[in-house]
Amino acid sequence: MQIPMLDLKREYEYMKDDINAAINTCLGHQRWILGPEVKELEEKIAAYVCVKHCIGLCSGTDALVLSLRALSIKLKGEEFFDRTDEIITTSFTFTASGDAILRSGATPVFVDIDAATYNMDANLIRNYLEQRPSSKLVGILPVHIYGQACDMDEIKNIANDHNLFVVEDVAQAFGGRWRDASLGSLGNTGAFSFFPSKNLGGFGDGGVITTNDDRLAELARMLLRHGGRDKYNVDHVGYNARIDTLQAAVVLAKLKHIDDFNERRKKIAGIYTEGLSNIKGLELPKMLPEAGHVFHQYTIRVPASERDNLQKALKEKGVSTMIYYPYPLHRMKVFGNGRSIAFGSLKKSEDATQSVLSLPMEPLQTADETSYVIQSIKDLINK
Ligand SMILES: *Cc1c(COP(=O)(O)O)cnc(C)c1O
Repeated sequence: MQIPMLDLKREYEYMKDDINAAINTCLGHQRWILGPEVKELEEKIAAYVCVKHCIGLCSGTDALVLSLRALSIKLKGEEFFDRTDEIITTSFTFTASGDAILRSGATPVFVDIDAATYNMDANLIRNYLEQRPSSKLVGILPVHIYGQACDMDEIKNIANDHNLFVVEDVAQAFGGRWRDASLGSLGNTGAFSFFPSKNLGGFGDGGVITTNDDRLAELARMLLRHGGRDKYNVDHVGYNARIDTLQAAVVLAKLKHIDDFNERRKKIAGIYTEGLSNIKGLELPKMLPEAGHVFHQYTIRVPASERDNLQKALKEKGVSTMIYYPYPLHRMKVFGNGRSIAFGSLKKSEDATQSVLSLPMEPLQTADETSYVIQSIKDLINK
C-alpha cells in the first residue's frame, strides 16, 4: 500500500464537476483581476467565520503582513512598526508567522510552547511582561498549530489588560473553533492561507484576512492594491497582493466541502487515537475540550533518538510522514543578529522539532488505509 500525506488528485476527482464548472465560468467571463468570484468568496467566508469583513489576498503570508501593516498605520499612524515594537509569537511554527513580524518592521519575541498541545504557552506572555516591564510589546500573534486553537481566553485577557492587538494565524485551522467562536473572529484580524496542502487549499497560493474592524479592513484593501483607494494615486506603501479570480473560484468550489472534510479528518484522528493508544514511547495529540480541533495534522511524538529511523522505515512500508517543523524559528539565520528576542530557553519548542511526526491525513483516506498506517507503526515500534 502507498499512503501519501495528502492525495490532491483523489480530492480533485471527488469534486471535479464543481471545480471544472467554476473554472469554466471564469473562462466565460474573463474577469481575471478582482472578478465576481473574489467578492463571492469574501462574502461566504465572512459569513462562515461570523465577521464583518473578509479580504482576499494572494497568500497566507500576505494576510499576516498586511494585517500587521494595517495595524501599524491604524494604531501608530506609521507605515511600519519600529524595531523597538515587539510582537510575541511562537518559535514552533512555519517561518512565515515570524517573518511577517520582521517585514512589518517590528521585532518578534518568541515564547515557548505547551509541550502537549504545541501551541504558545500563554502564561509565558505574562511572565515576559513582568520580567521586562520596559519592553514595548504591541501585539500577540498566536498560531493555531495543527488545527487546534491556542488558549484564546487567556490570550484575549492579556491583550485587554495590556492594550495589545491580536493577529490570529489561522493558516492551519479553517473551520476550527475556540468555545463557540470561529477561529479568525477572536483577534483584531485572522490570517488564513489556501496553500494547496492546507485544510482549505486552492490550486496555488491564496489567503484571506478576516476582521470586524472597519478601519483595518479598509486599510488592508488599500494595501493589497498598491496602497490607495485609487491605484493611480496612492497613500500608503502598498503591495500587489490580490487573490486571483481563478483561485477564488477554486476555493469557493472546495469551501462547500469544508465541514464534511473537517469531520472526516476528525474521524481519521479518532481511528489513529484508538489504534495507537497505550504504546510505550508514543505520545498522541492532546485535545483541549474548549478547542474544536480540525486536525490539519495528526502529529505524534516519539523519542528523538528514534524519530528519523521510524520515518524512514515507514517510508519503506509505503507510509509518507512529515516533520512539521524540523527547526524552531529562533535558530534560523533570518531571526538571528538581534532581529528577534528568545524568551527563556525555548526548550520545549526545540524538543518538539526533534520528536514530532505528522501522519497521513487525507480526508478521503479509507479506514483500511488508516489501519495500515497504525499497523505499520505498531510493527516498527515493537521491534
Ligand atoms: C502555511 C502557513 C503560513 C503561510 O501561508 P502561505 O499561504 O503559504 O503564505 C503561515 N502560517 C502558518 C502557521 C502556516 O502553516
